[in-house]
Amino acid sequence: MTKLALRGGDPVRDEMLPYGRQSVDAADIEAVAKVLRSDWLTTGPMVDAFEEAVTDYVGADHGVAVSNGTAALHTAMRIAGIGQGDEVIVPTMTFAATANAALYEGARPVFADVQPGDLLIDLDHAQELITPRTKAIVPVDYAGHPCDYEALQSLADDHDLTLIADACHALGATYKGQPVGSLADATCFSFHPVKHITTGEGGMVTTDREEWAENGRRFRHHGMQRDAGIRDEKGAWAYDIPELGQNYRLTDIHCALGTSQLENLDAWITRRRAIASAYDDALTHTPGVDPLDVSQPEGHAYHLYVVRIQEEAFGTDRRAAFHALRAENIGVNVHYEPVHLHDYYQDRLGTKPGQCPHAESAYETLITLPMFPTMSDKDIDDVIRAMEKVHEAQST
Ligand SMILES: *Cc1c(COP(=O)(O)O)cnc(C)c1O
Repeated sequence: MTKLALRGGDPVRDEMLPYGRQSVDAADIEAVAKVLRSDWLTTGPMVDAFEEAVTDYVGADHGVAVSNGTAALHTAMRIAGIGQGDEVIVPTMTFAATANAALYEGARPVFADVQPGDLLIDLDHAQELITPRTKAIVPVDYAGHPCDYEALQSLADDHDLTLIADACHALGATYKGQPVGSLADATCFSFHPVKHITTGEGGMVTTDREEWAENGRRFRHHGMQRDAGIRDEKGAWAYDIPELGQNYRLTDIHCALGTSQLENLDAWITRRRAIASAYDDALTHTPGVDPLDVSQPEGHAYHLYVVRIQEEAFGTDRRAAFHALRAENIGVNVHYEPVHLHDYYQDRLGTKPGQCPHAESAYETLITLPMFPTMSDKDIDDVIRAMEKVHEAQST
């Protein structure tokens, strides 16, 4: 048997395989170059075009492009009227931005546990957390697997809550044939390079509510409002600022890239599903490597491929497996340490270890394997061989 790279042996591959990576082709570069040669660099025709392309794709009436996914979540909080004294239920197995968006508006994130099988929000726990102050619930389509939107909608209806989807993992996912992006009061996407399509940095809120979209466009541009009434009253230069806003604008340069990227999304998701199925097939042969449960394989967008390392069967724990795989040049990652365990939330909100036991115990076992559409079959094979190598080295 070959020696682990960690112990001085040859790694499974010579170059680090990242866990996620963007794909940019000549058409993308040309689309960006065209904007650079044009009159508009920011807030020009490409913003509208990108909003229209994404909303067409996800089946929503309106899209508000913003500077990143976190800004999309913040914008969604604002247009949903979440503010001081309100509570917002978020799953703890997510990126911190999901919770931070509520904090930016003076609201309190309340952390729900996740289901042990698929790490999606546990709706029984969420229901127990509802108080008269609860205004919204923000499910996360963890790893690209759509949440149970029907059950979420009925929970939201029963308790008069706004449903804001954090779909930063789930562009291109579907729930019972319906695209994610059209299933909540507002849905938030990220176009960071590790996500399904990229604009470098970028994000979008999709919604069917016209007034929310208008408010979102105002919020991303300093809260500024221009209309005929104000111009007639004050002069042609005039605008009003009825509320505090941000500069969350996304440029035409970004939007040209995003619009071009979107052309490839279906093909990329097909490839992501093929990679997932190759992992599924191979990893059943490696003891102690336990992929997440998938109740909706046909709707899964596979932003991430996450496995749980079962220490006894695998021969070592997650921490050691992680370091051994990195040494083999497999760029594994961990998504996520539950948000409520970070110092800021413990100090500021009084969260504690033990309050979300499923997420906390899952966290100790999680490893994210490389997954991006331009991975070659050889790359996939390297990952599988590295998992086997680490298992065999530990168990003999
Ligand atoms: C990526 C991500 C975000 C934030 O998106 P940015 O574009 O990085 O600001 C928020 N929530 C989740 C679940 C994410 O994966």
